[in-house]
Amino acid sequence: MRREKQLVAAGYPWDQRLGDGDTPSSYLALVAWCEGRRVGQIGAGPPGLKPEAILRDRTGGALLRRDPPWWKIHSLAVDPSHQGTGVGTALLQAVVERLPRDIVGIYGSVELDRPQAIAWYRRRGFYLAANASLPLSQRSTTGIQLLSVPDQVFFYRRGAELHQHLAGKGYSNFERRIAREEYRRELRMHGRLMPARGDLGYRQLASRIAQAPPEAACPHVWLGPRVLVVDAWDPNLTRVCVPCHPRHLETIAVYDASDHCDGCQRTKPDVELSWAGNEDGLLFVTAGLCASCRADLPPAGANRRPSGWFLGSGRA
Ligand SMILES: [Zn+2]
Ligand SMILES: [Zn+2]
Repeated sequence: MRREKQLVAAGYPWDQRLGDGDTPSSYLALVAWCEGRRVGQIGAGPPGLKPEAILRDRTGGALLRRDPPWWKIHSLAVDPSHQGTGVGTALLQAVVERLPRDIVGIYGSVELDRPQAIAWYRRRGFYLAANASLPLSQRSTTGIQLLSVPDQVFFYRRGAELHQHLAGKGYSNFERRIAREEYRRELRMHGRLMPARGDLGYRQLASRIAQAPPEAACPHVWLGPRVLVVDAWDPNLTRVCVPCHPRHLETIAVYDASDHCDGCQRTKPDVELSWAGNEDGLLFVTAGLCASCRADLPPAGANRRPSGWFLGSGRA
């Protein structure tokens, strides 16, 4: 494997993207050779302030005017005659090994209709998500927020973790671990907005919905373990990922009457918004329920919260 700084001008279709930055020297272009022939290439470096990236303090939303300490894979391609021989992995590994010390990790995006490419990145230790919160340092709570882009999915992982994974020493089930972290973050947010309380009716409704087969789903559901949301007033009980949820809410707004109870399907004056979350299923169910549906306690002796379910409620 050789380092080719001049590759930017070599006429590859990705040269424009590599030439994007103000500091071309910080980009890394590597080429894999086999018997005197180029059989693969990778281009990685600062992401530049692309439209998909909003740099902000997670707590305050302040914009940052510099490249975040993450590298983006701008391009990775292997000659079809050499695919499946480990060239791509070797190129990726070479970038991970050359990652500057102050760079937290690597990310990139891939089209949703390329399941083989998505699976390739997953097997190499990347987390796949519709959007991502990338920390600015290993310790800080501020980060870069990658917004969801229609038809695209992001892959990302911290450099040290990628290094471990590629060396065969990574966590098993790392995606599940990250999904659980995301679940707990959502749980804290739900808990702040609508504190948990003792009513159990909506837990029963949520369990019913959780057991119902999914009628439809956003395109990110099949990407693997991730936090999903179901609204009880959605006639299809569609499971959507958290980033897709606001857009999905707009499509079902007509059913979201504030005095409609999703439990008994009646119009009631005392409907409140309730939610239940299930950590095992990484699922949140939200419903508008009337007072009697909220107070619909299970039989005596059975009114303990089943493990995994978290409950909350607030004004509709
Ligand atoms: Zn989605
Ligand atoms: Zn009701």
